[in-house]
Amino acid sequence: MLLLPTFRYHAVRSVKEACAVLQENPAEAKLMAGGTDLLVSMKQGLFTPRHLVGLRRVAELRRLAYDAGGLRIGALVTLQELKTSPLVAQHYPLLQEAASKAGSWHHQNMGTVGGNACLDTRCRYYNQDEFWRRSYGPCFKEDGEVCYVVHGKQECVAAFSGDVAPALLALGATVTVEGPGGVRRFPLADLYTNDGKHPFTLKPAEIITSFQVPPPELGACGFYEKFRRRGTIDFPLAGIAVSLVRAGANGHCRSARIALTGLEARPFLVDEAARILENEPLTPESISAAGQALWKAAHPTKTTNAEPGHRKRMVRILFERRLRALAGV
Ligand SMILES: Cc1cc2nc3c(=O)[nH]c(=O)nc-3n(C[C@H](O)[C@H](O)[C@H](O)COP(=O)(O)OP(=O)(O)OC[C@H]3O[C@@H](n4cnc5c(N)ncnc54)[C@H](O)[C@@H]3O)c2cc1C
Ligand code: SF4
Repeated sequence: MLLLPTFRYHAVRSVKEACAVLQENPAEAKLMAGGTDLLVSMKQGLFTPRHLVGLRRVAELRRLAYDAGGLRIGALVTLQELKTSPLVAQHYPLLQEAASKAGSWHHQNMGTVGGNACLDTRCRYYNQDEFWRRSYGPCFKEDGEVCYVVHGKQECVAAFSGDVAPALLALGATVTVEGPGGVRRFPLADLYTNDGKHPFTLKPAEIITSFQVPPPELGACGFYEKFRRRGTIDFPLAGIAVSLVRAGANGHCRSARIALTGLEARPFLVDEAARILENEPLTPESISAAGQALWKAAHPTKTTNAEPGHRKRMVRILFERRLRALAGV
């Protein structure tokens, strides 16, 4: 049985209080939202924080609101709340679909949007218990000197594997963070470094407080496709979030944003694929050309036990199949 290490739990009631505990214990404190990922990692000995800063009582982080300025999602809003919100279903079905495909019901009930955006990068050589990891020796992400995925590389390519973050990226979301230096707001893409060992640009003692999604334009539509082995629980082996605005009598594509996840150390937008669709009718040819661009942009490595070439192909297949169904071609 895997046991949690000993820690002190701080049930804070405000963002300021949370920041203060983080500041007082640099390198020894960690934030906990739903705990669905963090507690598993702690049991595996990947993190052994002496202080856990529990955010669950911070009411200011729980708000989900929609108005003329768009959707505001507090960092503590759960995936279940996103999935069941009539507002989200009506205005952002892509977001609802992504939340409903993340983990299992249990993960959705407890897991939060903030925790999903800050999910640590994953790799089959790292997300294992201590006994397993010792048989190999520590890799670069664990302060060792080797990478078992890409030999000879002094860099960690563990994959960001959240499902909701790519949907937010495709919807053009911004993120607000608060810390000792005050409040900052920036595009969600800038939260990620693409370095599997240090995946986030958050400064010490900074906390994500909310996400802002612009209001949907007339004709907005989209979807989230996920390649996984089982219909539940599994992290994405590849995920594709597509947000489109269609216009005109033939429903041609006025604008597009397409994000991928599960492949690199960050979720990322593929502008080349979006540009191919923009201002074009959705035809089998344009969809196939965009699929080809996505295929080119996807560079999975052996971070999972699924064959990288298969994951790469599935990006294109799932994207084209779903977009052709949406366009009716
Ligand atoms: C078996 C299993 C299957 C899973 N399957 C999926 C899946 O298919 N898709 C998927 O997307 N996820 C999956 N997850 C991961 C996880 O359940 C979700 O990503 C969930 O949304 C994480 O949210 P949380 O609130 O539980 O995060 P936590 O576990 O509480 O935290 C995760 C990380 O985020 C940090 N953090 C949390 N909140 C904040 C904040 N406000 N500001 C800054 N940092 C913060 C924490 O310090 C921690 O490092 C799975 C997990 C498990 C164990
Ligand atoms: S990608 Fe390499 S360094 Fe990163 S966790 Fe996997 S084996 Fe370790």
